[in-house]
Amino acid sequence: MTTPTVSFEVFPPKSIDAAFKLWDTAQALAPLAPRFFSVTYGAGGTTRDLTHDAAAVLHRTLGLPVSAHLTCVGASVAETMDVAEKFHAAGVTEIVALRGDPEGGADKFTPHADGFKNSVELIEALALLDKFTIRVGAYPDCHPDAVSQHANVQYLKRKFDAGADEALTQFFFEPESFLRFRDQCAAAGITKPIIPGILPITNWTSARKFAERCGTKIPAWMDEAYRAAERDNRTELLSTSLCTELCSELVAEGVDSLHFYTLNRPELTRDVCRALGVTPQTQMSNVA
Ligand code: FAD
Repeated sequence: MTTPTVSFEVFPPKSIDAAFKLWDTAQALAPLAPRFFSVTYGAGGTTRDLTHDAAAVLHRTLGLPVSAHLTCVGASVAETMDVAEKFHAAGVTEIVALRGDPEGGADKFTPHADGFKNSVELIEALALLDKFTIRVGAYPDCHPDAVSQHANVQYLKRKFDAGADEALTQFFFEPESFLRFRDQCAAAGITKPIIPGILPITNWTSARKFAERCGTKIPAWMDEAYRAAERDNRTELLSTSLCTELCSELVAEGVDSLHFYTLNRPELTRDVCRALGVTPQTQMSNVA
């Protein structure tokens, strides 16, 4: 089996304790020579400065590419572009450009009066600067705001046409979700890379809640599998094997890069990477 390349999403810390966890995560995963670390932007832009600082420090200390997330929520066009410029000044030249979720748990996204109205406008503005690698979100199980899967795919096409270089997907639980989506995107004329987002499950209850919120399909067998694993105190083993199996099936289908949602907990991600053959040695020989 081919060894995939990997990348890792982390979130910015809000306390000293969390800062150590982020540091431990970076230390544990950097030796796997990821293509990049990505740093999230808190809902509603709440971690604007923390995202900047975490992305800048990771870039400076690890010497690896860092992709900073940026959303359109709660900020004017000028403020959003100012954040982008500050990323660039700190050496962060890759951005994950997103619309973001509605503020305060609202159902519908309402743009800031002077802000970008959607992700396409943000991508166009960033592309005009011509100094960032632009990544965007993609939704194999369909985004809840999309009127149909066709619209979901067409919207991703618009984001690529606006200047995106690569898409990172929302997480999904079964390989078919991604493979079907990849086929639909190819049929729509999308030729740029679409990298599957992988969630190693550290807590099934919260992963399930999160999946419900973002429209990820939850296979019925997973509830039963986690119920049994919890009873036998083997949830970690179940998560490692399920995630490894998901990744292996994707790699067998020609996927050559995986993006892991680490939640700043590196152990499971590292174990899955190891099972896939992603070790410091192989990655170094890949680079050579
Ligand atoms: P878009 O792709 O722009 O829109 C989502 C869907 O809505 C589209 O598929 C389309 O069908 C429909 N739609 C939207 N606008 C229009 C329109 N004008 N016309 C027609 N259809 C439209 N959130 C954060 O707050 N911070 C983060 O750091 C963060 N990181 C993320 C990273 C990844 C890889 C992913 C996949 C998601 C992330 N999110 C994050 C969540 C994201 O903000 C939400 O999923 C949000 O609801 C959609 O953002 P988007 O840019 O992907 O949406």
